[in-house]
Amino acid sequence: MALEISKIESTEFSYPIEDVGTDDGFNLVYEPGTTTERSLFGLRIHTYEGLTGEFVGGNSPGFAQINVIADYLIGKDPLKRERHWSEIKRGLRKYDRMGIGPIDIALWDLAGKHYGAPIHELLGTYRTRLPAYASSYHADRNGGLDSPMAYAQFAENCLNRGYDGFKIHGWGGSPEARDINREIETVHAVGDRVGDEMDLMLDPACEYETFGDALKVGRACDKQEFFWYEDPFRDGGLSQHAHRKLREQIDTPILQTEHVRGLEAHADFVVNDATDFVRADPEYDAGITGAMKIARMAEAFGLDTEIHSPGPAQRHCIAALRNANYYEMALLHPECENTQPPVYQNDYSDHIDSIDADGTVPVPDGEGLGVEYDWDYIEEHETGRRRYE
Ligand SMILES: [Mg+2]
Repeated sequence: MALEISKIESTEFSYPIEDVGTDDGFNLVYEPGTTTERSLFGLRIHTYEGLTGEFVGGNSPGFAQINVIADYLIGKDPLKRERHWSEIKRGLRKYDRMGIGPIDIALWDLAGKHYGAPIHELLGTYRTRLPAYASSYHADRNGGLDSPMAYAQFAENCLNRGYDGFKIHGWGGSPEARDINREIETVHAVGDRVGDEMDLMLDPACEYETFGDALKVGRACDKQEFFWYEDPFRDGGLSQHAHRKLREQIDTPILQTEHVRGLEAHADFVVNDATDFVRADPEYDAGITGAMKIARMAEAFGLDTEIHSPGPAQRHCIAALRNANYYEMALLHPECENTQPPVYQNDYSDHIDSIDADGTVPVPDGEGLGVEYDWDYIEEHETGRRRYE
């Protein structure tokens, strides 16, 4: 029986994150007494047959693109994901195509409900427990992650909780706030404390001013035998030439392509020897369809694909991949809650204590994404809505 899309609703809402503010730039950091309102979107794709595909997450630029593509989907068969992916990809060719992700994930959720199976089974299940690493907040100046020793202490705390990996997001926010020697001290402090027992990663999130700084910190990662070094400097994670040069001069594997959009652009990064690990994100990289294409491309080159950030769609992707090491539990801090929204009614959660004693999380086993969204919460916190029919 063919299905037909009748209506698409996108609901913008915001939720509070307590004791969190921003540094002098765009990073969320621990700030006692401050509340940050974070905006997300809830997407529902309805069919005349009564099935609804759902997804909650995303960002404003991505959801703005849904204005361009929603009318195309009305009246279409929601099961023809590959066809829609190709058409929408062309339709958004002038843009970064962030709008495909939420739509594609909701279509996979709908397909799972139609077939009565979790998404990881539709993709082909490789595993049902996913090893998680603890991914820290950026540094603050407010008594939280505010020194190399504080990072070392928090990494040990995460080790004791069962995490096998720890990732540092360091200092940032303004040129004055960045002290490359303190970054190097942090690499050594964490490495000396837990390096024998955890895989360690460093993600400056493109904060370093120069290639030279990226090189200096990379050499510290070499000494501490870091597992990967990610998006170090202000090229924005985009220069294939610079990252090939960086790889030639340090030993630590680098992880790029979080800020590169598109299957072909990811492949070009790999072919030009500009990364060791490949980054993909179902929200950013054109959905589960797009992220899995990137992961299969990397598999063909013998490389691993590390899926970015936590979430149900991310879990289904990793569950269907051999060539992936970790699930990113982000963002974690010793004093404040993580940044994930309180929108789940079932036992799904992405918090510091959501791992088992082995440091793993489960993949949801219900139909589709396998989560029950709390639409009452989302609508109570609604800040805007678009309806297409
Ligand atoms: Mg990153």
